[in-house]
Amino acid sequence: MDALFRKEFHPGAVIFREGEAGETAFVIESGGVEISAFRGDTKVVIATLGEGELFGEMALIDGQVRSATARATTNTTLIIIARDQVERRIDGVDPLLNLFLKVILKRLRTTTRLLDLHREHPDGADSTRFRRVDQSFDEVRDHAMSLLKVEQELRQAIERDEFELFFQPVTRASDSTVAGAEALIRWQHPQRGLVSPLEFIDLAEDTGLIVPIGLWVLENACNALRTFNDSVAETYDNAPHSFMSVNLSARQIIEPGLPEAIYEILTRTETNPKHLKLEVTESVLMGDPETAAIVLGELKEFGVTLAVDDFGTGYSSLSYLHRFPIDVIKIDQSFVLGMLEDSANLKIVRGIISLARELGMQVIAEGVERQEQLTLLADFDCDYIQGYLFSKPAPLEEISAAVRRKFG
Ligand code: C2E
Ligand code: CA
Ligand code: CA
Repeated sequence: MDALFRKEFHPGAVIFREGEAGETAFVIESGGVEISAFRGDTKVVIATLGEGELFGEMALIDGQVRSATARATTNTTLIIIARDQVERRIDGVDPLLNLFLKVILKRLRTTTRLLDLHREHPDGADSTRFRRVDQSFDEVRDHAMSLLKVEQELRQAIERDEFELFFQPVTRASDSTVAGAEALIRWQHPQRGLVSPLEFIDLAEDTGLIVPIGLWVLENACNALRTFNDSVAETYDNAPHSFMSVNLSARQIIEPGLPEAIYEILTRTETNPKHLKLEVTESVLMGDPETAAIVLGELKEFGVTLAVDDFGTGYSSLSYLHRFPIDVIKIDQSFVLGMLEDSANLKIVRGIISLARELGMQVIAEGVERQEQLTLLADFDCDYIQGYLFSKPAPLEEISAAVRRKFG
C-alpha cells in the first residue's frame, strides 16, 4: 500500500525528465532534489530542494510537459501526489479561482520560455511560436466567464428590481380550506423572460448574493401576507390567520446577523412572527449542524415556525431531527408524485406522516397534483397539502383571486 504513496531514490537517480508528460507531483519526505534544465547545451540548476518541499506540481495542474528535470541528490524518499487527487480538488474549487490558478501558471510558463528564448536569441524572441492550443484552459476560461456574466447580471437584477415573487397556496388536507402560501422567487430577465429559481439560486448561493436576495424575498413575502390573508378572510368564515412560507438557504444561515435582520423585517412590516414559516432543507441542517442549531434556536425564540423542506431526500438518518427546533415536515414531492403508482413511495409517505405525529410535528405534502393523492393523504391524517391540484405558483393578485373563487 505504502509503495503507492512513497518512492525511494538513490543519489543521482532521475525522478523525471524535461519534456516528459507529468502524472504526479512530489513532496520530499527526506533527502534532497535538484531541479535543472538545459539552456542550449548548458545545464542550469534552477533549484535545490529539501525536506517538506513540493515539486512537479505545474504539469499536474495545466497538463503540460515537465519544464525541467528532477534528480535525487542523496538517498531520498518522496511522497507521491497523483493527478486524480489534484483534479478532484480543482474540480471542486470556485471556477474563478480555478481560472486564476491556470492563468497565473500560463503566464509563468510563457514568461519563463520568453526569457529563455531571449537569452538564446537576444534579437528575435517571438512569443507566437509558443502559443499552444490548450483545450482544458479554454474550457476553464469559458466556464468562469459564463458564471461571471450571470453573476454580474444577478447583481444588476438586484439593483434593477428584476425579481418577482410568485405564491402557491397551502390548503388543509381535511377540508381544502386555505391555510397559507409559499413565496417562490422568479427572475424577470430583460432578454430571457421569466427565469426559474432552479437556474439561479445555486449561483446566488455560491456568490453570497442570496443574502440580499433572501432579505428582499422575506420583506416582500411579509408585505404580501396581509393581502393574501385578506382574501382568505373574505372567503372562509372564521378562518385562522394565514401563514407565509419563505425558503432559507444554507448560505443565509451562516451569515452573521441573520436572525437580527429577519427580526428587523418582521418589525418593519408589522408581521406577527408566528405567521412566518421558514423552510430549510435537510442539507442545510446537516452542512453545519452546530451553526444551524444556534441560528434556528434564535429564530425560534422570536416565535417563527420552522419547517424541513424536501424531507426524505437528504439523509436517511432520522436521529438528527430532534436536535433542531423543527415544527413542520414537508414531504418531498418525489414521494407524493409517485405514491399512487409505487407502493414503496406510498409507505414512505405514510411512514413520514406517522413519524411527524410521534414527534409532535405537523406535515405538509408537496407536489399534490391529483385528487386521489389528496384523498389518501387526508386518510393518512396529513395536515396540509401543496401542489398543482389547487394552483401552480402565480403572482399575488392571481392567487388572491383564485382563493376567492376557491380555485374553481
Ligand atoms: P421548493 O422550496 O421545494 O418549492 C417547491 C417547488 O415545487 C416550486 O418550484 C413549485 O413550483 C414546485 N411545485 C409545487 N407544486 C408542484 C406540483 O404539484 N407538481 C410539481 N411537479 N411541482 C410542484 P419552483 O418555484 O421552481 O422553485 C424551485 C426551488 O427553488 C424551490 O423548491 C426552492 O428550493 C428554490 N427557491 C424558490 N424561491 C426561493 C427563495 O426565495 N429563496 C431560496 N433560497 N430558494 C428558493
Ligand atoms: Ca420550499
Ligand atoms: Ca420542497
